[in-house]
Amino acid sequence: MNDQTIAIIGAGLSGLACARVLADAGAHVTLFDKARGAGGRMSTRRTEVGPFDHGAQYFTARDPAFRAAVAEWQAAGVVAEWQGRIERVGVGPGPEPSPGERFVGTPGMSALLRHIAGELPVCFETQVTDIRRVEDGYRLDEYDGPPLRPFTQVVVAVPTPQAVPLLTTHAPALAGRVAQAEMAPCFSVMAAFDAPLPTPLDGIFFVGHPIGWAARDSSKPGRPAGERWVIHGHWGWSAEHLNDPPEQIAQALLAAFFSALEMAPRAPTFVATHRWRYALPTIPLAEDYLYDPAAGIGVCGDACNGPRVEGAWLSGTALGRAIVAARG
Ligand SMILES: Cc1cc2nc3c(=O)[nH]c(=O)nc-3n(C[C@H](O)[C@H](O)[C@H](O)COP(=O)(O)OP(=O)(O)OC[C@H]3O[C@@H](n4cnc5c(N)ncnc54)[C@H](O)[C@@H]3O)c2cc1C
Repeated sequence: MNDQTIAIIGAGLSGLACARVLADAGAHVTLFDKARGAGGRMSTRRTEVGPFDHGAQYFTARDPAFRAAVAEWQAAGVVAEWQGRIERVGVGPGPEPSPGERFVGTPGMSALLRHIAGELPVCFETQVTDIRRVEDGYRLDEYDGPPLRPFTQVVVAVPTPQAVPLLTTHAPALAGRVAQAEMAPCFSVMAAFDAPLPTPLDGIFFVGHPIGWAARDSSKPGRPAGERWVIHGHWGWSAEHLNDPPEQIAQALLAAFFSALEMAPRAPTFVATHRWRYALPTIPLAEDYLYDPAAGIGVCGDACNGPRVEGAWLSGTALGRAIVAARG
Protein backbone atom coordinates (compact mmCIF):
# COMPACT_ATOMS: atom_id res chain seq x y z
CA MET A 1 0.00 0.00 0.00
CA ASN A 2 3.05 2.31 0.12
CA ASP A 3 2.33 3.51 -3.41
CA GLN A 4 -1.23 4.56 -2.49
CA THR A 5 -2.04 8.18 -1.63
CA ILE A 6 -5.64 8.26 -0.46
CA ALA A 7 -7.87 11.28 0.15
CA ILE A 8 -10.66 10.80 2.67
CA ILE A 9 -13.42 13.38 2.55
CA GLY A 10 -15.08 13.55 5.98
CA ALA A 11 -13.37 13.15 9.37
CA GLY A 12 -16.38 11.67 11.16
CA LEU A 13 -16.15 8.18 12.62
CA SER A 14 -16.50 6.31 9.31
CA GLY A 15 -13.80 8.36 7.56
CA LEU A 16 -11.45 8.04 10.52
CA ALA A 17 -12.04 4.29 10.88
CA CYS A 18 -11.28 3.85 7.18
CA ALA A 19 -8.19 6.06 7.47
CA ARG A 20 -6.88 3.98 10.38
CA VAL A 21 -7.10 0.71 8.44
CA LEU A 22 -5.43 2.25 5.38
CA ALA A 23 -2.68 4.00 7.34
CA ASP A 24 -1.96 0.82 9.32
CA ALA A 25 -1.55 -1.00 5.98
CA GLY A 26 1.05 1.57 4.87
CA ALA A 27 -1.05 3.88 2.64
CA HIS A 28 -0.52 7.65 2.75
CA VAL A 29 -3.87 9.06 3.84
CA THR A 30 -5.00 12.68 4.12
CA LEU A 31 -8.40 13.59 5.56
CA PHE A 32 -10.43 16.67 4.66
CA ASP A 33 -13.28 18.07 6.72
CA LYS A 34 -15.25 21.27 6.35
CA ALA A 35 -15.60 21.57 10.15
CA ARG A 36 -13.08 23.03 12.57
CA GLY A 37 -12.41 19.71 14.33
CA ALA A 38 -12.90 15.96 14.03
CA GLY A 39 -16.22 14.49 15.03
CA GLY A 40 -18.97 15.06 12.50
CA ARG A 41 -22.19 13.93 14.11
CA MET A 42 -20.20 12.83 17.18
CA SER A 43 -19.06 16.38 17.93
CA THR A 44 -19.06 18.02 21.33
CA ARG A 45 -20.11 21.68 21.55
CA ARG A 46 -17.99 23.68 24.02
CA THR A 47 -19.84 26.54 25.72
CA GLU A 48 -19.33 28.89 28.66
CA VAL A 49 -21.47 26.56 30.81
CA GLY A 50 -19.64 23.37 29.84
CA PRO A 51 -19.64 20.84 27.00
CA PHE A 52 -22.70 19.31 25.31
CA ASP A 53 -22.77 16.17 23.16
CA HIS A 54 -25.21 17.70 20.74
CA GLY A 55 -25.14 14.90 18.16
CA ALA A 56 -24.72 11.21 19.03
CA GLN A 57 -25.69 10.60 22.64
CA TYR A 58 -24.21 7.21 23.42
CA PHE A 59 -23.42 4.05 21.56
CA THR A 60 -23.90 0.34 21.96
CA ALA A 61 -21.47 -2.34 20.80
CA ARG A 62 -22.68 -5.66 19.44
CA ASP A 63 -20.25 -6.66 16.68
CA PRO A 64 -17.19 -8.50 18.13
CA ALA A 65 -14.69 -6.34 16.20
CA PHE A 66 -16.40 -3.15 17.38
CA ARG A 67 -16.54 -4.48 20.94
CA ALA A 68 -12.78 -5.08 20.78
CA ALA A 69 -12.23 -1.51 19.55
CA VAL A 70 -14.42 -0.16 22.36
CA ALA A 71 -12.39 -2.15 24.92
CA GLU A 72 -9.19 -0.55 23.56
CA TRP A 73 -10.74 2.92 23.78
CA GLN A 74 -11.85 2.23 27.35
CA ALA A 75 -8.30 1.18 28.24
CA ALA A 76 -7.02 4.41 26.64
CA GLY A 77 -9.45 6.42 28.80
CA VAL A 78 -11.38 7.98 25.91
CA VAL A 79 -14.55 5.90 26.33
CA ALA A 80 -16.51 4.96 29.45
CA GLU A 81 -19.79 3.28 30.24
CA TRP A 82 -22.69 5.64 30.95
CA GLN A 83 -24.87 4.19 33.67
CA GLY A 84 -27.57 6.81 33.53
CA ARG A 85 -31.17 5.81 34.19
CA ILE A 86 -32.94 5.69 30.84
CA GLU A 87 -36.66 5.19 30.32
CA ARG A 88 -39.31 5.66 27.72
CA VAL A 89 -42.16 8.15 28.05
CA GLY A 90 -45.36 7.79 26.01
CA VAL A 91 -47.31 4.92 24.51
CA GLY A 92 -47.31 3.36 21.08
CA PRO A 93 -44.67 2.14 18.68
CA GLY A 94 -41.26 3.74 19.08
CA PRO A 95 -37.77 3.16 20.38
CA GLU A 96 -37.22 1.19 23.57
CA PRO A 97 -34.15 1.65 25.79
CA SER A 98 -31.85 -1.16 24.66
CA PRO A 99 -30.52 -3.56 27.27
CA GLY A 100 -26.76 -3.78 27.77
CA GLU A 101 -23.96 -1.28 28.09
CA ARG A 102 -24.10 2.26 26.75
CA PHE A 103 -20.80 3.94 25.98
CA VAL A 104 -19.81 7.59 25.61
CA GLY A 105 -16.59 9.39 24.71
CA THR A 106 -14.81 10.98 27.68
CA PRO A 107 -14.55 13.77 28.63
CA GLY A 108 -16.82 14.39 25.62
CA MET A 109 -17.93 12.39 22.60
CA SER A 110 -15.43 14.12 20.33
CA ALA A 111 -12.49 12.95 22.50
CA LEU A 112 -12.89 9.52 20.93
CA LEU A 113 -12.62 10.96 17.43
CA ARG A 114 -9.51 12.95 18.34
CA HIS A 115 -8.01 9.76 19.75
CA ILE A 116 -8.70 7.79 16.57
CA ALA A 117 -7.37 10.63 14.43
CA GLY A 118 -4.13 10.62 16.45
CA GLU A 119 -1.35 11.86 14.18
CA LEU A 120 -3.26 11.33 10.93
CA PRO A 121 -3.12 14.44 8.75
CA VAL A 122 -6.51 16.19 8.68
CA CYS A 123 -7.15 19.40 6.73
CA PHE A 124 -9.94 21.09 8.66
CA GLU A 125 -12.13 23.94 7.43
CA THR A 126 -11.76 22.50 3.94
CA GLN A 127 -15.02 21.86 2.14
CA VAL A 128 -14.38 19.66 -0.88
CA THR A 129 -16.61 20.77 -3.72
CA ASP A 130 -15.41 18.44 -6.46
CA ILE A 131 -13.13 15.54 -7.28
CA ARG A 132 -11.07 16.32 -10.38
CA ARG A 133 -9.30 13.77 -12.59
CA VAL A 134 -5.72 14.67 -13.46
CA GLU A 135 -3.16 12.71 -15.43
CA ASP A 136 -1.81 10.72 -12.49
CA GLY A 137 -4.80 10.51 -10.17
CA TYR A 138 -7.31 12.82 -8.51
CA ARG A 139 -7.17 16.30 -7.05
CA LEU A 140 -9.76 17.90 -4.80
CA ASP A 141 -11.30 21.28 -5.46
CA GLU A 142 -11.35 23.90 -2.72
CA TYR A 143 -8.30 22.45 -1.04
CA ASP A 144 -5.93 25.42 -1.04
CA GLY A 145 -3.24 24.27 1.38
CA PRO A 146 0.31 23.25 0.48
CA PRO A 147 0.48 21.18 -2.74
CA LEU A 148 -0.19 17.47 -2.20
CA ARG A 149 0.59 14.61 -4.52
CA PRO A 150 -2.40 13.60 -6.66
CA PHE A 151 -4.45 10.93 -4.92
CA THR A 152 -4.55 7.41 -6.31
CA GLN A 153 -7.91 6.82 -4.56
CA VAL A 154 -10.65 8.85 -2.91
CA VAL A 155 -12.95 7.83 -0.06
CA VAL A 156 -16.18 9.78 0.39
CA ALA A 157 -17.29 9.54 4.04
CA VAL A 158 -19.98 12.23 4.26
CA PRO A 159 -23.80 12.05 4.64
CA THR A 160 -25.32 10.66 1.43
CA PRO A 161 -26.95 13.88 0.10
CA GLN A 162 -23.53 15.54 0.35
CA ALA A 163 -21.80 12.52 -1.23
CA VAL A 164 -23.88 12.41 -4.42
CA PRO A 165 -22.48 15.56 -6.11
CA LEU A 166 -18.92 14.47 -5.31
CA LEU A 167 -19.44 11.09 -7.00
CA THR A 168 -21.45 12.02 -10.08
CA THR A 169 -18.59 12.66 -12.51
CA HIS A 170 -16.13 9.83 -11.83
CA ALA A 171 -18.29 7.19 -10.12
CA PRO A 172 -21.80 7.68 -11.55
CA ALA A 173 -22.93 4.16 -10.59
CA LEU A 174 -22.00 4.81 -6.96
CA ALA A 175 -23.72 8.21 -7.12
CA GLY A 176 -26.91 6.54 -8.35
CA ARG A 177 -26.83 3.97 -5.57
CA VAL A 178 -26.05 6.54 -2.84
CA ALA A 179 -28.90 8.76 -4.07
CA GLN A 180 -31.33 6.01 -3.07
CA ALA A 181 -30.60 6.55 0.63
CA GLU A 182 -32.61 9.18 2.48
CA MET A 183 -31.63 11.17 5.52
CA ALA A 184 -33.78 13.12 7.96
CA PRO A 185 -32.92 16.20 10.04
CA CYS A 186 -32.84 16.65 13.81
CA PHE A 187 -32.84 19.76 15.97
CA SER A 188 -30.68 19.62 19.07
CA VAL A 189 -31.45 22.04 21.90
CA MET A 190 -28.73 22.48 24.52
CA ALA A 191 -29.94 23.95 27.83
CA ALA A 192 -28.29 24.53 31.22
CA PHE A 193 -30.11 25.15 34.50
CA ASP A 194 -28.96 26.57 37.81
CA ALA A 195 -30.25 23.56 39.80
CA PRO A 196 -30.95 19.88 39.07
CA LEU A 197 -34.28 19.27 37.35
CA PRO A 198 -36.64 17.22 39.53
CA THR A 199 -36.51 13.94 37.61
CA PRO A 200 -34.59 10.77 38.46
CA LEU A 201 -34.15 10.07 34.73
CA ASP A 202 -30.93 10.81 32.85
CA GLY A 203 -32.12 9.79 29.41
CA ILE A 204 -35.64 9.67 27.99
CA PHE A 205 -37.01 8.24 24.76
CA PHE A 206 -40.21 10.09 23.89
CA VAL A 207 -42.83 8.29 21.85
CA GLY A 208 -45.47 10.00 19.69
CA HIS A 209 -44.07 13.39 20.61
CA PRO A 210 -42.29 16.41 19.07
CA ILE A 211 -39.24 15.31 21.11
CA GLY A 212 -37.41 12.12 20.21
CA TRP A 213 -34.88 12.03 23.02
CA ALA A 214 -33.63 14.09 25.96
CA ALA A 215 -30.63 13.52 28.21
CA ARG A 216 -29.02 14.97 31.26
CA ASP A 217 -25.73 15.38 29.44
CA SER A 218 -23.94 16.33 32.65
CA SER A 219 -24.71 12.85 34.07
CA LYS A 220 -22.30 11.23 31.63
CA PRO A 221 -18.92 10.16 33.03
CA GLY A 222 -16.03 12.65 33.05
CA ARG A 223 -18.18 15.73 32.48
CA PRO A 224 -17.79 18.89 34.59
CA ALA A 225 -20.42 19.56 37.25
CA GLY A 226 -23.61 21.36 36.26
CA GLU A 227 -27.10 20.65 35.04
CA ARG A 228 -26.90 20.43 31.25
CA TRP A 229 -29.58 18.84 29.07
CA VAL A 230 -29.73 17.99 25.39
CA ILE A 231 -33.18 17.72 23.80
CA HIS A 232 -33.56 16.28 20.30
CA GLY A 233 -36.59 17.02 18.18
CA HIS A 234 -38.20 13.93 16.67
CA TRP A 235 -37.02 13.72 13.05
CA GLY A 236 -40.56 14.11 11.67
CA TRP A 237 -41.15 17.21 13.80
CA SER A 238 -37.69 18.53 12.89
CA ALA A 239 -38.46 18.10 9.18
CA GLU A 240 -41.74 20.00 9.57
CA HIS A 241 -39.97 22.86 11.37
CA LEU A 242 -36.76 22.80 9.34
CA ASN A 243 -36.71 26.53 8.60
CA ASP A 244 -38.10 27.85 11.88
CA PRO A 245 -35.82 30.28 13.74
CA PRO A 246 -33.57 28.59 16.35
CA GLU A 247 -35.13 30.55 19.25
CA GLN A 248 -38.58 29.28 18.26
CA ILE A 249 -37.31 25.69 18.10
CA ALA A 250 -35.73 25.99 21.56
CA GLN A 251 -38.88 27.50 23.03
CA ALA A 252 -41.15 24.82 21.54
CA LEU A 253 -38.99 21.86 22.55
CA LEU A 254 -38.33 23.15 26.08
CA ALA A 255 -42.08 23.71 26.60
CA ALA A 256 -42.83 20.20 25.27
CA PHE A 257 -40.12 18.75 27.53
CA PHE A 258 -41.44 20.28 30.77
CA SER A 259 -45.01 19.43 29.85
CA ALA A 260 -44.25 15.75 29.03
CA LEU A 261 -42.37 15.31 32.32
CA GLU A 262 -45.06 17.23 34.24
CA MET A 263 -42.52 19.71 35.57
CA ALA A 264 -43.01 23.40 36.17
CA PRO A 265 -41.15 25.19 33.36
CA ARG A 266 -37.86 26.86 34.35
CA ALA A 267 -35.78 29.39 32.52
CA PRO A 268 -32.45 27.97 31.36
CA THR A 269 -29.26 29.87 32.24
CA PHE A 270 -27.96 28.97 28.77
CA VAL A 271 -29.67 27.76 25.63
CA ALA A 272 -28.46 27.06 22.09
CA THR A 273 -29.93 25.22 19.14
CA HIS A 274 -28.15 23.22 16.44
CA ARG A 275 -29.79 22.01 13.27
CA TRP A 276 -28.45 18.71 11.97
CA ARG A 277 -29.60 18.91 8.36
CA TYR A 278 -28.62 15.29 7.69
CA ALA A 279 -28.92 13.57 11.05
CA LEU A 280 -30.04 10.01 10.45
CA PRO A 281 -30.60 7.70 7.51
CA THR A 282 -34.31 6.89 7.32
CA ILE A 283 -33.77 4.82 4.15
CA PRO A 284 -30.33 3.22 4.49
CA LEU A 285 -28.41 1.20 1.90
CA ALA A 286 -28.08 -2.57 2.14
CA GLU A 287 -24.34 -2.56 1.41
CA ASP A 288 -21.67 -2.23 4.15
CA TYR A 289 -19.76 0.14 1.84
CA LEU A 290 -19.54 0.94 -1.86
CA TYR A 291 -16.31 0.68 -3.83
CA ASP A 292 -15.42 1.01 -7.48
CA PRO A 293 -11.87 -0.40 -7.70
CA ALA A 294 -11.45 0.67 -11.34
CA ALA A 295 -12.21 4.29 -10.52
CA GLY A 296 -10.46 4.05 -7.13
CA ILE A 297 -13.43 5.66 -5.37
CA GLY A 298 -15.22 4.33 -2.29
CA VAL A 299 -18.11 5.40 -0.07
CA CYS A 300 -18.67 4.65 3.60
CA GLY A 301 -20.79 6.01 6.42
CA ASP A 302 -23.71 5.20 8.67
CA ALA A 303 -26.14 5.08 5.74
CA CYS A 304 -24.30 1.94 4.65
CA ASN A 305 -24.24 -0.09 7.82
CA GLY A 306 -26.98 1.05 10.14
CA PRO A 307 -27.72 4.55 11.38
CA ARG A 308 -25.50 4.38 14.42
CA VAL A 309 -22.00 4.98 15.70
CA GLU A 310 -21.28 1.26 15.47
CA GLY A 311 -22.56 1.16 11.89
CA ALA A 312 -20.34 4.08 10.86
CA TRP A 313 -17.24 2.42 12.34
CA LEU A 314 -18.04 -0.94 10.75
CA SER A 315 -18.64 0.70 7.36
CA GLY A 316 -15.39 2.69 7.38
CA THR A 317 -13.39 -0.30 8.60
CA ALA A 318 -14.91 -2.60 5.96
CA LEU A 319 -14.15 -0.13 3.15
CA GLY A 320 -10.57 0.28 4.37
CA ARG A 321 -10.11 -3.50 4.31
CA ALA A 322 -11.64 -3.76 0.83
CA ILE A 323 -9.22 -1.14 -0.50
CA VAL A 324 -6.26 -2.93 1.11
CA ALA A 325 -7.46 -6.25 -0.37
CA ALA A 326 -7.77 -4.70 -3.83
CA ARG A 327 -4.46 -2.84 -3.84
CA GLY A 328 -2.45 -4.30 -0.98
C1 LIG B 1 -28.76 14.31 16.66
C2 LIG B 1 -28.10 12.98 16.47
C3 LIG B 1 -28.20 12.01 17.45
C4 LIG B 1 -27.59 10.77 17.29
N1 LIG B 1 -27.65 9.87 18.31
C5 LIG B 1 -26.98 8.71 18.19
C6 LIG B 1 -26.91 7.81 19.29
O1 LIG B 1 -27.39 8.11 20.40
N2 LIG B 1 -26.28 6.62 19.11
C7 LIG B 1 -25.68 6.29 17.93
O2 LIG B 1 -25.09 5.20 17.84
N3 LIG B 1 -25.71 7.14 16.89
C8 LIG B 1 -26.33 8.33 16.99
N4 LIG B 1 -26.33 9.21 15.95
C9 LIG B 1 -25.74 8.79 14.68
C10 LIG B 1 -24.21 8.89 14.68
O3 LIG B 1 -23.82 10.16 15.12
C11 LIG B 1 -23.74 8.67 13.25
O4 LIG B 1 -24.19 7.38 12.83
C12 LIG B 1 -22.23 8.71 13.04
O5 LIG B 1 -21.62 9.72 13.79
C13 LIG B 1 -22.00 8.92 11.55
O6 LIG B 1 -20.63 9.01 11.26
P1 LIG B 1 -20.18 9.25 9.75
O7 LIG B 1 -18.69 9.24 9.72
O8 LIG B 1 -20.90 8.29 8.86
O9 LIG B 1 -20.74 10.70 9.34
P2 LIG B 1 -20.49 12.12 10.00
O10 LIG B 1 -20.26 12.02 11.45
O11 LIG B 1 -21.62 12.97 9.54
O12 LIG B 1 -19.14 12.65 9.33
C14 LIG B 1 -19.11 13.25 8.07
C15 LIG B 1 -18.09 14.38 8.07
O13 LIG B 1 -17.99 14.88 6.74
C16 LIG B 1 -17.81 16.28 6.78
N5 LIG B 1 -18.22 16.78 5.45
C17 LIG B 1 -19.44 16.72 4.87
N6 LIG B 1 -19.38 17.20 3.59
C18 LIG B 1 -18.09 17.57 3.39
C19 LIG B 1 -17.39 18.13 2.26
N7 LIG B 1 -18.00 18.38 1.10
N8 LIG B 1 -16.07 18.38 2.40
C20 LIG B 1 -15.41 18.13 3.59
N9 LIG B 1 -16.03 17.59 4.66
C21 LIG B 1 -17.35 17.30 4.57
C22 LIG B 1 -18.68 16.74 7.94
O14 LIG B 1 -18.22 17.97 8.45
C23 LIG B 1 -18.49 15.58 8.93
O15 LIG B 1 -17.45 15.85 9.86
C24 LIG B 1 -26.89 10.48 16.10
C25 LIG B 1 -26.78 11.47 15.12
C26 LIG B 1 -27.35 12.71 15.31
C27 LIG B 1 -27.17 13.78 14.28
